[in-house]
Amino acid sequence: MHPEMDLKITTAQLLGQTGLWDVAIANGRIAAIAPVIPSFAPTIIDAAGRLLIPGLVDAHLHLDKALLLDRAPAVEGTFAEAMRETRRLKETLTVDDIQIRSRRVIENAIALGTTAMRSHVEVDPTLGLTAMAALLPLREEYAWGITLQLAVFAQDGITNIEGEATLLRQAIAMGGDVIGSAPYVDPNPERNIEIVFDIAQEFDCDVDFHLDFLDDDAPLTLPFVIAETIRRGWQGRVCLGHMTKLAALPPHELAAIAPALQAAGISILALPASDVYIMARKDSHNVRRGIAPIHTLAGLGVNTGIAINNIQNLFTPFGDGDMLRICTLLAELLQLGTRDSHQLCLEMATTRAAKAIGIHDHGLAVGNPADLVLLGSTSVSDAIAAPPTDRTVIKQGAIVAQSKLERRIGRIVKR
Ligand SMILES: [Zn+2]
Repeated sequence: MHPEMDLKITTAQLLGQTGLWDVAIANGRIAAIAPVIPSFAPTIIDAAGRLLIPGLVDAHLHLDKALLLDRAPAVEGTFAEAMRETRRLKETLTVDDIQIRSRRVIENAIALGTTAMRSHVEVDPTLGLTAMAALLPLREEYAWGITLQLAVFAQDGITNIEGEATLLRQAIAMGGDVIGSAPYVDPNPERNIEIVFDIAQEFDCDVDFHLDFLDDDAPLTLPFVIAETIRRGWQGRVCLGHMTKLAALPPHELAAIAPALQAAGISILALPASDVYIMARKDSHNVRRGIAPIHTLAGLGVNTGIAINNIQNLFTPFGDGDMLRICTLLAELLQLGTRDSHQLCLEMATTRAAKAIGIHDHGLAVGNPADLVLLGSTSVSDAIAAPPTDRTVIKQGAIVAQSKLERRIGRIVKR
């Protein structure tokens, strides 16, 4: 029936399905999904009723500034301090240093089941093209375990920095996959956005903005990005991270924006670990959460996802790179308790996140690449409630990581 089958997973729960299923994998792709697949496979994994999900997708991460907290511990713990101290640290970063920290993050991510990742890569006159030079070789080196996209990123503005636009173009020409910026730190946000779209059109690449972040009085730039997306014909190619200002919109205003987002094919990513840490610092009590209402937007037909953003630096002093822990955090912050909402959380960490970064063949369907994670969880809600240590990670049909909790309880040492 499937003579070239390489791997078979038996009796698994599948995300979005009821019952138990066998999954056959051949030539790196999902070859069949059926209640019983009788054919022989050289490797068989008995899922024994545990949950099989598509590979986790971290659609927004900063490898180049991960794990910097020991060099710049938080004193004020503010966004201003994070920007200021990270700028200072950037003067000291080297290719070796960025690679050492990035390898730790990437290898951990693979072990935890992340099979695709988009990393933003800072490019500016301080750092030059150092971060690009560091990360380009890692994209190839780790292709066995993770699909790594590099989003060339102007963190500190474009119109306010002489030579920035030229550097961004050089970074894309070196091999950057995506172009992006943070318009809210630019004195001219609209011109910043136009320059990013200009570069996207010149190099035919997708766009990724850090947008409408913080809780200041600045107006939404989202309508301008939607208009530019349509004007440039970039529908389906724009991803927006943070979007915390959407949390402040009353429901009717949010509902009014959703159709335009859907029509422009713009994806929205909440970055809950960073957002809840940075936002609403001026609230003296009953502090607002400031998480984009991505569950509501999903219900309104917008593609939404979640991502990690930062790991152990001044922007987010926490995290181990586990997307499932971000699912738990999101469910806690957005008060998601139902089984259906937990399924949505897992979709926002897998298939919906993949779509946000232009990967359209990700998921449990015949013909898709076999990027999968078998969790030690007995249900969708179990996976959200308590992310398991036990995980088997499959990338393009090959087992690339296996973790199993070893625990002993009782009187370990005899008296
Ligand atoms: Zn970011």
